[in-house]
Amino acid sequence: MAKKLTVKDRERCIGCYCCMFACTRVWYGALGIEKSAMRVKNYPGVEGAFSVRVCQACKQPECAAACPTGALRLAKRGFGVELVRELCTHCRKCVRACAANALQWDEQLQIPIACRHCGICVRYCPTNVLTMQEVV
Ligand code: SF4
Ligand code: SF4
Repeated sequence: MAKKLTVKDRERCIGCYCCMFACTRVWYGALGIEKSAMRVKNYPGVEGAFSVRVCQACKQPECAAACPTGALRLAKRGFGVELVRELCTHCRKCVRACAANALQWDEQLQIPIACRHCGICVRYCPTNVLTMQEVV
């Protein structure tokens, strides 16, 4: 059974960013968090509280439907999206269409960052905020 990345317990997040560092390192070989497909942010003015946004693994992704060139499309696994980079015109319509505000944007390359639902970030979270959940 295929699994998708899911936020299990947001309140346990300590804002260490290990999840984003792991995603960036594994998929881009880079240091930092900018290219991570998921996003942890602190709430301005609220100490110790973090928002944790992950791809919702939609089976009919609104981000893909909004893409005018077919560059972002339903992933072959049947949920979430994958990018055909040569077709991307950098219009950002996909990011604006995600109701969950979960699709991340690569500012350097000006392309969306599609989560692979690989579970690497889950493995590196020290407080079990994240999990892999069976897709039904
Ligand atoms: S599941 Fe994989 S691709 Fe998705 S955010 Fe986590 S590490 Fe990145
Ligand atoms: S690794 Fe876990 S605790 Fe650290 S920022 Fe990510 S979700 Fe939060």
